[in-house]
Amino acid sequence: MAKRDYYEVLGVSKGASDAEIKKAYRKLAIKYHPDKNPDDQEAEAKFKEAAEAYEVLSNAQKRQRYDQFGHAGMGGAAGGGGYGGGMNMDDIFEQFGDIFGGAFGGGGGFGGFGGGGRSRGGRRVFKGSNLRVRVKLTLEEVANGVTKKLRLKRQVEADGINYTTCATCRGSGQVNRVTNTILGQMQTASTCPACKGLGKTITNKPSGTDENGMTRKEEVVEVKIPAGVVDGMQLKVSGKGNAGPMGGVNGDLIVVIEVEDHVELEREGQNLHYDLYISLPDAVLGTKVDVPTVKGKARIKLDPGTQSGKILRLRGKGLPSVESYGTGDLLVHVNVWTPKNVSDKYKKVFEEMQGDAEFDPNPGRSDKSFFDKVKEMFT
Ligand SMILES: [Zn+2]
Repeated sequence: MAKRDYYEVLGVSKGASDAEIKKAYRKLAIKYHPDKNPDDQEAEAKFKEAAEAYEVLSNAQKRQRYDQFGHAGMGGAAGGGGYGGGMNMDDIFEQFGDIFGGAFGGGGGFGGFGGGGRSRGGRRVFKGSNLRVRVKLTLEEVANGVTKKLRLKRQVEADGINYTTCATCRGSGQVNRVTNTILGQMQTASTCPACKGLGKTITNKPSGTDENGMTRKEEVVEVKIPAGVVDGMQLKVSGKGNAGPMGGVNGDLIVVIEVEDHVELEREGQNLHYDLYISLPDAVLGTKVDVPTVKGKARIKLDPGTQSGKILRLRGKGLPSVESYGTGDLLVHVNVWTPKNVSDKYKKVFEEMQGDAEFDPNPGRSDKSFFDKVKEMFT
């Protein structure tokens, strides 16, 4: 199959500007993005074709060569020889992830800003730094999941900034030097000193911005926090960190989870524990009490003769997990509260009971049937 003309692929004219080419590619990349077209081979081919065309036309040197010689001119000089449909998806995301912007949350796999991820084509992709923010959550918010509005100061491109393709390296971000060695002429590439590898230089830098024309702007970012997170967990929100300079890739927002202590409930993994105190008469006669849960109160029934130390398990009243299915339990620990001072009236009552065999502690004796005991072991 004959290779289509790159301008035709992107649907732009031969004289199209860098911005027009980028815009055209972005449109195609989003249209044929594999996330939108799962298992669609035709879309994947179109996606790759557009990426290849963009790789050449977005680079001043390659574009010039292509204009002069057509596809034939791209053969050996393509930088890695990834032509003829040989570009794989990872390469595309690595080189052009920034084109997707927020549309797909970035392609991942970029080096940090300054460290530079030099792509095979020689173009450097600059990523903004990550932003970290701590978020405090109540246990109730952990149980249900929550959307938090976070006020951040993000680094962004200042209004009115203008930049142009670097004249020294013509946008490639690197300069070639020819040196004579005993083996003959050798060509070495190094980072362009004029633009520090960015491929672009600033023509209008608004006042109060840094060397790359970046400024800090306050923004509110909504972050959806799933149920079941734990203290110290870090959630990554792709592309919500600082912007990369001159059309670079956004860094990520790292949300560090901090779970506040609950007044009444204690967390142990997905399970919750609650210490319940009941009175002597309630322990003897049985009662109904309300216990707190992460989703309101729950009423539980205590049988007559409830022992101190008994643990009641409320299934599914614990916490969900971020990683797995199922919800933990709420374990209610029963404590019988013993009054320290009683009036003469009750002193008499207790004195009467004190000598009676009915009140002799006898943990070994049980009024329960064998089957009740087995059941208790498994609930
Ligand atoms: Zn340069």
